[in-house]
Amino acid sequence: MFDALTLKKQFPIFSHYPELIYLDNAATLQKPLAVLDAERFYYEHHNANVHRGAHRLATAATEAFENARHTVAQFINAVSDDEIVFTRGTTEGINLVANTWGNTLAAGDEIILSTLEHHANIVPWQMLAERRGLTLKIIQLDAQGALDLTHFLSLLSNKTKLVAISQVSNAIGSIQPVQWICQQAHQYGAKVLVDGAQAVAHSVIDVQEIGADFYVFSGHKIYGPTGIGVLWAHAKLLNEIPPWQGGGEMIATVSFERSTYAAAPYRFEAGTPPIAQTVGLAAALNWLNQQDRTALAEHEIALRQQLEEGLAQLPAVKIHGQSANKAAITSMTFMDAHPYDVAQFLDHQHIAVRVGHHCAQPLLHSLGLSGTLRASFAAYNTAQDVSRFLSSLQNTLDLLD
Ligand code: PLP
Repeated sequence: MFDALTLKKQFPIFSHYPELIYLDNAATLQKPLAVLDAERFYYEHHNANVHRGAHRLATAATEAFENARHTVAQFINAVSDDEIVFTRGTTEGINLVANTWGNTLAAGDEIILSTLEHHANIVPWQMLAERRGLTLKIIQLDAQGALDLTHFLSLLSNKTKLVAISQVSNAIGSIQPVQWICQQAHQYGAKVLVDGAQAVAHSVIDVQEIGADFYVFSGHKIYGPTGIGVLWAHAKLLNEIPPWQGGGEMIATVSFERSTYAAAPYRFEAGTPPIAQTVGLAAALNWLNQQDRTALAEHEIALRQQLEEGLAQLPAVKIHGQSANKAAITSMTFMDAHPYDVAQFLDHQHIAVRVGHHCAQPLLHSLGLSGTLRASFAAYNTAQDVSRFLSSLQNTLDLLD
């Protein structure tokens, strides 16, 4: 049994707001004390700039930064630390690939996305397509909100250069068979970018097993700080890609005639990096490594099942997205109430949920909706949270009826 109540004590936010039921985990996760302590310790004991100082603090800061890279590499089973590029988050990782590797694409080339992508995995490709005359092809969903894999196969061709796909939908929770998608895409010589934003905190990620070409995620969605994220790719591929932003740190030599660039990953890390945030991210990953990941994943899914069984008893509630393989995310609408009004009432009862299009407007449009109310789970949620959500929701719907 996973002891969420004991674990919850490690999250200071819940001691400041004892009544808080936080079900907005797909937006961002709360941070354990270990992460807050690690950042504070770094600033108190090691703070300096990295890679250039000749003093002991600079050495300590550089060590902390590079150790964080090593921790990330091990966490996702990368072959080497050189495969880890620090970014600001998932969004920046995708933009980095679109603005560097993406520039190798030519008019007529095709990129396959899916209906359920987050805007972060749509708009950078649209911008690239406009710049370079590319075509975007969109995988449809089936009635359960899972990818229509037959449709995906029909879109693949020798023109396909990239498949960019979310491992887990942030809006309706569907889990995509990313390993299989990579195998199919590779048969056509296409690259695959997997958006792991909603997956990394909830399942064990092995980039070698998945077999993608690019894997991106955000620190704040894995119990770590905001302002830090990761782009993973094989070092060979990274070294074939030109840099994006120019500045300090990313160069080998600079003259007014010509500059040369550092090897990956440094060529993609122009300027002073978010050092404390990498330290916080490493602390989050170490903290997660100390948990029983299998029991944790089962716990989150059990909460989602408890919620959906309870919702099934409320005839005014409709759940959106019922794919067989589904993460701990539930999206719902109500017969006679607007999700936003419901969320406001829930907030008065200290229950935090998300409403709106969840940065997935094309998905919501395909469902004929403008917004849903989303409850999403993390390690510190409990069965009592779900019971309180269900009874508060029932009271709210009675009131709004
Ligand atoms: N992709 C998915 C699936 C997400 O859920 C999110 C955030 O909700 C993002 C990308 C963007 O992440 P970030 O805002 O941390 O860059």
